Amino acid sequence: MDKIKMTTPLVEMDGDEMTRILWKMIKDELLLPYIDLKTEYYDLGLEHRNETNDQVTVDSAEATKKYGVAVKCATITPNAARMTEYNLKEMWKSPNGMIRAALDGTVFRAPIIIKGIEPCVKNWEKPITLARHAYGDVYKNTEIKVPGPGKAELVFTAEDGTEIRETIHNFTGAGILQGIHNTDKSITSFAKACFNYALDTKQDLWFATKDTISKKYDHNFKDIFQEIYENEYAKKFEEAGIEYFYTLIDDAVARVMKAKGGFIWACKNYDGDVMSDMVSSAFGSLAMMTSVLVSPSGVYEYEAAHGTVQRHYYKHLKGEETSTNSVATIFAWTGALRKRGELDGNKDLMAFADKLEKATIKTIEDGKMTKDLALITSLKDVTVLNSENFIKAIRETFETL
Ligand code: NAP
Ligand code: MG
Repeated sequence: MDKIKMTTPLVEMDGDEMTRILWKMIKDELLLPYIDLKTEYYDLGLEHRNETNDQVTVDSAEATKKYGVAVKCATITPNAARMTEYNLKEMWKSPNGMIRAALDGTVFRAPIIIKGIEPCVKNWEKPITLARHAYGDVYKNTEIKVPGPGKAELVFTAEDGTEIRETIHNFTGAGILQGIHNTDKSITSFAKACFNYALDTKQDLWFATKDTISKKYDHNFKDIFQEIYENEYAKKFEEAGIEYFYTLIDDAVARVMKAKGGFIWACKNYDGDVMSDMVSSAFGSLAMMTSVLVSPSGVYEYEAAHGTVQRHYYKHLKGEETSTNSVATIFAWTGALRKRGELDGNKDLMAFADKLEKATIKTIEDGKMTKDLALITSLKDVTVLNSENFIKAIRETFETL
């Protein structure tokens, strides 16, 4: 059989530890035998980032802007221990943070649904996609531990020197203070990324804040979403048969618990942090969570939601057997290949992505899975496979489809 041809390259960002091992296995077993794979390769493994003074991460983000689609392996975000382990010149920043800043993106996370891995919330029949605004609020705060009595004020000084001044509180004793901000530009990008993603995946979009209490800050989010929706998206949503729905965050939480799923839930930064962990663990496992960064200009970067699975890697280095789940990494590849196919009008590539996802799901539903899933599945008589044999089992299933 002829291999599927690609016209435009995909940006490939290699990574670290166990996921780097899986990366190669996935390419060798599941991609290269079937596709004439065209990628522009960037090695974001920590050693190479260190050698290039992290220029490689900057270059990979620029290439993503150029080609429009990237697939990324999990990478190490260095801390003190990694400084010694990898003999680093500097404590390089989080690659994901750098790429997110360069692409001005919003992160969408969705669980992969499998029969036999049931969500804890029994009425969730379809995936719930979390869209998290990844800029500002409490993540870029300024804080003061107030030592004793005094007056706290919020002051904005414009470039021409004029001031806006509000009293926050007259302290009669010790306390705490926090200053947070966001920008219309970033909120606008967030809103557009959410609306585009909803259209792209034909799902309703929910957005929630606490605008009844935060009448300027949260209200600004609500207003920007509403204005962009009415001016640019209302008609497209109607044509696609989907809905944009705004409500209060507490109401959204209550509704999500009763919902069937199948929608996108857009959250402010902090709400998204908290709710994505709740949603992903309720759906079963971090290893079954896909993640895509979407920029308002229509650039897509696909990855797994989990990290480099360090503990498994150390076992692997000692020559011990591992049973690491490659599903989210496989779906990062299929997501990127499908998007590449869509942008290039390459139907074969899109069909390949669909088929590989189907084969992956069928393999698990047939009872062949890695240890993390075997521990939570309701299926009987399952076979626990090691990292490599699981990928080989997917290839066998793929050949039968
Ligand atoms: P992790 O890689 O997500 O793994 C944490 C634990 O979750 C694992 O030890 C394993 O549990 C389980 N797990 C995660 N993915 C799995 C998979 N695919 N298959 C089976 N089990 C899986 O988080 P970490 O070990 O805390 O972080 C390791 C490195 O990843 C860090 O250096 C961090 O900076 C980086 N990181 C990168 C990204 C990214 O690039 N997107 C995201 C998060 C973290 P058991 O050990 O119990 O089997
Ligand atoms: Mg978190």
